[in-house]
Amino acid sequence: MSDPMDVLAPEHRRLRIGDSWRDAASGATFAVEDPATGTTVAEVADAGVADGLAALDAASRAAAQWASIPPRRRSELLTATYRALTDRSEEVARLITLEMGKPLAEARAEVAYGAEFFRWFAEEAVRVEGRYSTAPAGGYRILTVPKPVGPCVFVTPWNFPLAMGARKIAPALAAGCTTVTKPAAQTPLTMLLLARIMEEVGVPAGVVNVVTTRRAGEVVSALLADTRTRKVSFTGSTEVGRVLLRQAADNVLRTSMELGGNAALIVCADADLDVALRGALVAKMRNIGESCIAANRIYVEEPVREEFTKRFTERMGALVVGRGFDDGVDVGALIDGPSVAKLDDLVADAVGRGARVLTGGVRPDGPGHFYPPTVLVDVPDDARMLREEIFGPVAPIIGFTSDDEVMAKANDTEHGLVGYVFTRDLQRALRFAEGLQTGMIGVNRGLISDPSAPFGGVKQSGIGKEGSHEGILEYLDVTYAAIDLP
Ligand code: NAP
Repeated sequence: MSDPMDVLAPEHRRLRIGDSWRDAASGATFAVEDPATGTTVAEVADAGVADGLAALDAASRAAAQWASIPPRRRSELLTATYRALTDRSEEVARLITLEMGKPLAEARAEVAYGAEFFRWFAEEAVRVEGRYSTAPAGGYRILTVPKPVGPCVFVTPWNFPLAMGARKIAPALAAGCTTVTKPAAQTPLTMLLLARIMEEVGVPAGVVNVVTTRRAGEVVSALLADTRTRKVSFTGSTEVGRVLLRQAADNVLRTSMELGGNAALIVCADADLDVALRGALVAKMRNIGESCIAANRIYVEEPVREEFTKRFTERMGALVVGRGFDDGVDVGALIDGPSVAKLDDLVADAVGRGARVLTGGVRPDGPGHFYPPTVLVDVPDDARMLREEIFGPVAPIIGFTSDDEVMAKANDTEHGLVGYVFTRDLQRALRFAEGLQTGMIGVNRGLISDPSAPFGGVKQSGIGKEGSHEGILEYLDVTYAAIDLP
């Protein structure tokens, strides 16, 4: 089989700035690793502040022309990107697996999901509308005109190397904004490939710029301090989100923040247990558990707790751990050594407080950053894994006896991204949907991500929405014109 790196020629492992692919001004590079083997798979340019500002300069120079291109043309370029990603799904997926570690089947699913943002926003690009109305007192008319906010800076995480960028770039371009994206240092290759694909389909120079760097703090803060930047959209940890919000305040930037989660998954005694098991497995194990919407705490009502736990543990124990490229693998490598060490710490902490491990819990020897699917019971409320984002294949199961009790526990977190509830009782489902303090809720479903739905959190899980009609509004300002008409 060919080398997954063949898809990205050496000249495209550099910074994408305006119409050029170039080295960092300093000439510095950094290594990208395969997390399944620990080997270096590529070197990419390590941008400094000057390179970041050069990318912003390109985005700023392209802004007026991109905003004035007919929406239909912008839409066609987004559709062409969707088609190219779909046609080249296999090679994009292999690059994702190489740098991020997820099983190839999940990487293919990410390409389909990421590509859909381009299709969805190609359709939204031609449906940006203002309003015209008579002022209530008469005498003049009110006209609202949506306009692109201007050059945007995007900072993305490593867990979905394509999709987390796609769901910012697609709506921004649809709205008429130009962009500078800084992908995670651990997974820069997929974003460079996306920029190359968008160049090939004819997206004009300067509209999509990509800056890879190991100096995120320095480069991003310079970008946010520059008055040519008009918007920052970030996906990553709440901790870094707070830093960027502070920096954005100085320049009064529009912000979208997609931050961390601590999802409760609630299984009621009246649930269809097969549906609940399937949903819990997806919600916990999709993307090796390295997902902001992963089920972090699984609450099961006492009458079905034992049966659910037994069947869930069997399924978790049967999952195959291994290199994402190997046939039959369900659980790939985690992103790095510290992620594995964190899981070890969380499990040790819970066990130290009286929890029992039913399966997994012991990291394997050998190369790569692997951790087995793990189930714990008797996890007390003060265990760290119930308060922190686990971000891996570890599932604590906790019993509950009343809806009020489980609702209070589910909401006892600074996060508010998503919740899940499994029940056949419609009223119960609606009470949870209304009572859970989250931006999203899965009802009898463990998978909720969809480009046509508004994704985003409340509380300290973020600000703003990605996807759906709301997604494009994040990239539009509204000018209001008062038109005299006595
Ligand atoms: P992270 O450490 O916050 O990093 C995310 C991005 O921010 C990376 O590109 C990183 O660059 C950059 N960064 C780090 N420090 C920075 C700074 N001081 N200034 C500017 N940029 C900085 O998060 P992660 O570990 O990559 O991703 C996991 C987190 O993302 C989890 O909390 C997860 O819940 C969250 N997430 C949320 C969503 C959502 O939609 N709500 C979706 C996916 C993930 P480097 O790579 O160079 O460090």
